Amino acid sequence: MRILIKNGHVIDPANNIDMVSDILVEDEKIADIKAGITDTADTVIDASGKYVVPGLVDMHVHLREPGFEYKEDIVTGTKAAVMGGVTSVVCMPNTNPVADSASVITYIKDRAKKYGYANVYPVGAISKGMQGKELSEMGDLKEAGAVAVSDDGKPVSEPVLMRYALEYANMFDLPVISHCEDLSLADEGDINEGFMSTYLGLRGITRAAEEVQAARDILIAEALGTPVHIAHVSTRGTVDLVRQAKRRGVKVTCETAPHYFTLTEKAVDGFNTNAKMNPPLRTDDDVSAVIDGLKDGTIDAIITDHAPHHADEKKCEFSLAANGIVGLETSLALGITYLVKTGKLTINELIALMSNKPANILNIDKGTLSQGADADITIFDADREWTVNVNEFASKSKNSPYDGYKLFGKPEFVIVGGKIRVNNGVLEER
Ligand SMILES: [Zn+2]
Repeated sequence: MRILIKNGHVIDPANNIDMVSDILVEDEKIADIKAGITDTADTVIDASGKYVVPGLVDMHVHLREPGFEYKEDIVTGTKAAVMGGVTSVVCMPNTNPVADSASVITYIKDRAKKYGYANVYPVGAISKGMQGKELSEMGDLKEAGAVAVSDDGKPVSEPVLMRYALEYANMFDLPVISHCEDLSLADEGDINEGFMSTYLGLRGITRAAEEVQAARDILIAEALGTPVHIAHVSTRGTVDLVRQAKRRGVKVTCETAPHYFTLTEKAVDGFNTNAKMNPPLRTDDDVSAVIDGLKDGTIDAIITDHAPHHADEKKCEFSLAANGIVGLETSLALGITYLVKTGKLTINELIALMSNKPANILNIDKGTLSQGADADITIFDADREWTVNVNEFASKSKNSPYDGYKLFGKPEFVIVGGKIRVNNGVLEER
């Protein structure tokens, strides 16, 4: 099976490639990348006027299987991924049962291999049952295929448990992904503490709830000399903490999500539960700090924190509504529209934040178009405008605040391991 991609504008930040070129895919691998390839192929894709980039790597996704299949499952979640140009999905362990054992990690990997549309990399839990009391068997998790550990959805509240987690995970070269939230400071709040919380009469969450734990985890990692990865950075303060720590040589990395560079707390006006998330949407000042952090290398990755919820979990009183939004089918377009079209980032910088940089944090062999690499490729036209319609999402859940938004750049062809999963913008059933 050979696929020839002709005349695309190839962007491969890992190899500093930014040129019009052809790519030949043979079986599951990238066989050649150069201009004027004349080999015959079973399928030829004309990519003139389009970008050809490494399949995107999203290192923070909730696939909800096992246990919450009414929200999403591995099949629908990976369909949503490829429709958004994401070919590698890193899924969080807050399932039921929690992914704190080799058997759950193996289950997820097997299901994904048999029925998935994208590559799936499970994250194991830091603590047993994500209870924050006792460490999981990280060696077993790693052996079963976990690429990181996290209790995401919940913080590791006990500082000493985080200390042991960083030391133990480091023995197995497992990155630790920290959901930073001081629960006592967060005080069961609903939205960012500020104008909107006062205006709407909702309970506020101080930015310190995130920053205090980010500072704590950075300092623990610094003392131990181990790496730590800070999840979903939402405030100027956290960006500053990571920037300063990196200057000191701390092995800290971090990520943010499109909603933290495209939306502010104003999006919750009218008690819009589709703008309710954790950490909450912040202010214009935080948005500009996040964008500066993306630009200067403080923030290493753009993730979605894809968090599908059933409509009933959002159509309720604001305080009772579930946190989070679906993101896989809009992340690339939000990056193009809000970062590249506005001149804040180059297309190269955006693609690096969504491909090779997250792959490097996790030490997975993805996010590049190198000859011999797995043929995971995303092709899109950055000038093509489209309107988000949640009813067209491949995801089971429709909880997006971007419904009706006009965005640029929708993936037209997506190849995973040499197989075309999205063909001319349409999902190819496997
Ligand atoms: Zn989280």
